[in-house]
Amino acid sequence: MAFDSLSSRLQGILKKIRGQAKITEKNIDDMLVEVRRALLEADVNYKVVQEFVEDVKNQAIGQKVIQSVSPSQMIVKIINDKLAELLGEGDNEIHFARTGVTSIMLVGLQGTGKTTSAGKLANMYKKEGKKVLLVAGDVYRPAAIDQLIQLGEQIGVQVYSDRSGTSPVEIAKKAYFKAQKENYNIVIIDTAGRLEIDETLMKELQDIETSIPLNEELLLVDALAGQNAVNVAKEFHTKVHLTGIIMSKLDSDARGGAALSIKKISGLPIKFAGVGEKIEDIETFHPDRMASRILGMGDVVSLVEKAQENLDQEKAVKATKKIMSGNFGIDDIVNLLHQIRRLGPLGKLITMLPGMPKINSDQVEQGEKNINIIEVISNSMTPKERKNPDIIKANRKIRIAKGAGRSVQDVNRVIKSYEMLRDNIKKMNPMMRNMIAAQAKKGGENK
Ligand code: GDP
Repeated sequence: MAFDSLSSRLQGILKKIRGQAKITEKNIDDMLVEVRRALLEADVNYKVVQEFVEDVKNQAIGQKVIQSVSPSQMIVKIINDKLAELLGEGDNEIHFARTGVTSIMLVGLQGTGKTTSAGKLANMYKKEGKKVLLVAGDVYRPAAIDQLIQLGEQIGVQVYSDRSGTSPVEIAKKAYFKAQKENYNIVIIDTAGRLEIDETLMKELQDIETSIPLNEELLLVDALAGQNAVNVAKEFHTKVHLTGIIMSKLDSDARGGAALSIKKISGLPIKFAGVGEKIEDIETFHPDRMASRILGMGDVVSLVEKAQENLDQEKAVKATKKIMSGNFGIDDIVNLLHQIRRLGPLGKLITMLPGMPKINSDQVEQGEKNINIIEVISNSMTPKERKNPDIIKANRKIRIAKGAGRSVQDVNRVIKSYEMLRDNIKKMNPMMRNMIAAQAKKGGENK
């Protein structure tokens, strides 16, 4: 199965580091030497490996310590996240047309799995209740047309074909027109492959691109081709407007080097993975799930995620309690503002207090700007001034404004807001104060 050998190597390496009582920089370096070797042996691009190892190291060293999580668990999480990043976390969605026909064109070298994948996708979308039209655009190989017609019959999907010498561009146009007229949801166009990239093939694809609106142009690459597949993707992408990759034969590739390099090198996200020869052997590609499958430590990863969330929540609860006590400085406000976006309803409650910057949905941008201003001004204060803003008189204000690159008015405004918030909280009925503090705690527990 895909990534098998890399997976067992990485799991071995991480098991070793998890067995160590203490994690030092030396431990991390030793581990990274092994990670580096494992990735190179998995045929991951050299530059990609180099960057990966540096990223992991920087993050591992810069990582804040979370009490309930061990440093080795933290490292598992970092490696997991970085693997997901390599696999292209982000833009893996298929972009469907808002109305009317969605067209998907499959391109790639011969034998990479275009025709098979066209059938697999058609079958998948048909099962989702969509009306699908397959288009036989590889007119040079009669066998390819036969193969697609056969697939269409097998899955009960209509195939548009034309053996009368019509050009692939005309075929694509006619098929698209038919799809529009007959209310198809999705058109999947199979195109001709060559043994290598050549100008005629590229020209043909470019002509189709300008003849019909394409929602997706997916390049088929064979996982077994390793770095060759990556190079083909890079080159194709300079000639035609690809939107993503279908990586076939991931089931037969134990190394996974192509999958781990292709996003960084070609810029193209993998959108689907072919995982066998049967019609249902296609998967929507999920980098995060794939990463945790490779590491086989999903439990550790979710443990760390949970601890990180809890930590944020704890900080927020603490900051709220402190502010509600009426004894707080500007540093506590900045602290709380940092957490507010994660707080949801509680965040709203806090921002309703007079003196706090307002962040409702219409004013998010302005609210964020206010937070930034408060933050740079606070950063320009001494710790003493932050804790006790009452000591900030004229001279200090000028110094703070200069340091923050803001006006003295801005400094005044921040101090005024602080005073207003403090006065209002002090004036508040103690029961109300306790209630808000308790609400913060409850919010934390509900998470
Ligand atoms: P085309 O020339 O690009 O249209 O390639 P085909 O669709 O004809 O596929 C070439 C060969 O690869 C066929 O034997 C397919 O069964 C096989 N194939 C395609 N996709 C996969 C896959 O995901 N896994 C495996 N194991 N074989 C595949």
